Amino acid sequence: MLRLLLLCLLVATQATAQMPPVTSSVDALHREARADSGHALVRLQDAIPGLKLDIRYATPNNFTGKAQYAIAAAWLRQKPAQALARVQQQLATHGYALKVYDAYRPYAVTVALWRSTTAHRFVANPRKGSQHNRGIAVDITLVDMHTGAEIDMGTGYDNFTDSAHHNFKKLPALVLARRCLLKELMEQAGFNAVPNEWWHYHWRDKNYTLLNIPFETLEAVGARRR
Ligand SMILES: [Zn+2]
Repeated sequence: MLRLLLLCLLVATQATAQMPPVTSSVDALHREARADSGHALVRLQDAIPGLKLDIRYATPNNFTGKAQYAIAAAWLRQKPAQALARVQQQLATHGYALKVYDAYRPYAVTVALWRSTTAHRFVANPRKGSQHNRGIAVDITLVDMHTGAEIDMGTGYDNFTDSAHHNFKKLPALVLARRCLLKELMEQAGFNAVPNEWWHYHWRDKNYTLLNIPFETLEAVGARRR
């Protein structure tokens, strides 16, 4: 029994030791932002006029079937937020606007997602954290800029089949053209795509800390400043 307890203790210690450094306080984030203003976290609704939100992890409408966020919020570091604002402007000339499914994701949620599923190839490993935890990744789609209606992009969000891959070409030409337009504009703006998720983009410079500041804290600090 004692040996088992010691073994469990060892496993638990190793698991903790494998966790990466994470910034958990607003003060630490503000220190980062004072050193480089591009690292400040920005509330996307304030930074990008006409932006639509459908934050799926704040609803049960996500692959876990349960809400993972207490509130629907979309925050990004300042540099990618400014770049996303430029993409929104460019899309307007095509009659489209951006809708955000997810942006900054607190590190604790990445841990919860990892524990909630055995399909680990679809979720970020907490040992590394994700670009969403750094506040530099965004999951987006296109909507009609006038009606806000979602545009057909071939699959829905968090579709884990081949048809969500950028190299999947058995789709209507218009759908492929929309994926191509979004990818071109995002890459020109400084984001990278990933092969398996047409909706995911992350900032090319990944030199940002992992963050574990809850949305409620960010919203409260943001509200005091507004
Ligand atoms: Zn993503």
